[in-house]
Amino acid sequence: MVAPTASSSSSPGTPPPIGPEVLRVHAPADGALLGEVPIVSAAGVTAAVTRARAAASSWGALTYAEREVELVRWRRALADAADELAELIHRENGKPRLDALVEVMMALSHLDHAAKRAAKALAPEKVGTGILANFRATVSYHPLGVIGVIGPWNYPIFTPMGSIAYALAAGNAVVFKPSELTPLVGVKFVELAQKAFSVPDVLQIVTGAGPTGAALCKAGVDKLAFTGSTATGKKVMAACADTLTPVLMELGGKDPMIVAEDADVDAAAEAAVFGALTNTGQACISIERIYVAAPIYDRFVDKVVAEVAKVKVGGDDGHVGAMTSKAQVGIVKDHLEDAVRRGAKVLAGGPDAIVGNFIQPTVLVDVTDDMKVMADETFGPVIPIVKVASTEEALRRANATSFGLGSSVFGKRGKELADRVKAGMTAVNSVMAFSAITSLPFGGVGDSGFGRIHGDQGIREFARTKATAEQTFALPINMMSFRQPANAYERMRGMIKQLYGAGPVAKVKDALGRLL
Ligand code: NDP
Repeated sequence: MVAPTASSSSSPGTPPPIGPEVLRVHAPADGALLGEVPIVSAAGVTAAVTRARAAASSWGALTYAEREVELVRWRRALADAADELAELIHRENGKPRLDALVEVMMALSHLDHAAKRAAKALAPEKVGTGILANFRATVSYHPLGVIGVIGPWNYPIFTPMGSIAYALAAGNAVVFKPSELTPLVGVKFVELAQKAFSVPDVLQIVTGAGPTGAALCKAGVDKLAFTGSTATGKKVMAACADTLTPVLMELGGKDPMIVAEDADVDAAAEAAVFGALTNTGQACISIERIYVAAPIYDRFVDKVVAEVAKVKVGGDDGHVGAMTSKAQVGIVKDHLEDAVRRGAKVLAGGPDAIVGNFIQPTVLVDVTDDMKVMADETFGPVIPIVKVASTEEALRRANATSFGLGSSVFGKRGKELADRVKAGMTAVNSVMAFSAITSLPFGGVGDSGFGRIHGDQGIREFARTKATAEQTFALPINMMSFRQPANAYERMRGMIKQLYGAGPVAKVKDALGRLL
């Protein structure tokens, strides 16, 4: 499949480039040319944002029910095109076909959730009025306008959908910049949106490389939702600082897994293998470090090695696919070589088992915290396992990182331990499940970013919060006026003592505490 090039007509929904450049998209598995997309210039990006602004006023004026109908129409079109979308993801990204189809399903589950949930998540709320008893106070939510979404290549539909669906459901228009490695699936899903929506230009795509993303940061969007590496996230934030454009940052991770002494060893090992290898290890919430209690360590390692031996690499029914880029293969190889040089033991795979863009699932033991594979995001099919003397040691080492995205805890006291892991999300006796539960907010802390997608918080990320104080009747003392009675000072001082001092009213209020 070859998408239209700049020299013919541009891809549906893609603003024409200013200039002749095109991006060629190649399959990581076999190098085949899959298509071309225009490299949209800064002027093209600004034009898209201008069109989006016009669309945002019509789209934002629809009721939630009307927008739900539009979004469900798009969801159905995407579901009808599931095979085509999965094939595009499989070819562009290199992941196995089943992984690609799972990604489509996860993306649709979020679109469905956002469409149906927005009315409730953004319903106006009456709140208490405190000392202004003659007022009615309301918090309401309104569209921000135009949202820029910049996405990565590892989940080219699921990840951007986590921002796009929620932004659209909240009444905004969106301009989406996909990764240069995986633009074709983006072009396809935007094309389907444009057919499904009654308002033109509500969702547009601007294809290109880094400079196109940089241009989107400067194009006057009302918020920029970025998903990608921590390094690029910092550049995006710096670019947005000039215009005080708010940003949402979904960045990298170094997710730990803690396996306590009382864990179900077989279940933990199977989950570890899946959590580290799914999506060929190229997930922001991949399991990247495993801390296992000493008494069960040997059994756990044996089980992991046995499970890894069953993992099929490549082919149509493989569990692990091609790495998406040569650059990423290089990073993983560097981490593995560094680990081996510093004394890690390879129990499966390893740096010598890399062929082209395919990396054999690698199990490492005798790893230390100063190795790259334990400190930096590896983003590949690698399982480093560490023996720890206690759960406390596991927690301390798991938390000794600048990242804080996902995590996983296995053991009978899983929930209790989970609360002590410094991360935005934790799966207990499972891995990654939080990303599939549409009502749960998704996001990290530290170098993993800030802000939340998914769930009600994910919808509110794309809304302007409005506080309204409405006077319902007049009182003798009006704090919002210069016209005060002669004894206003004394009366105010009396009120302070009554309400906040040690007077009887304050004592009753304090006793009733949170009931008031
Ligand atoms: P990058 O940071 O390399 O790129 C992300 C996006 O930013 C791409 O579209 C890229 O374009 C674009 N970009 C590059 N330079 C700039 C710039 N100067 N200004 C604006 N945009 C720019 O990340 P990857 O694509 O390599 O994705 C992998 C990373 O994403 C990993 O670190 C992973 O952990 C993280 N990630 C985080 C998730 C989360 O939810 N927290 C989810 C998924 C991934 P181009 O590709 O064309 O260069």
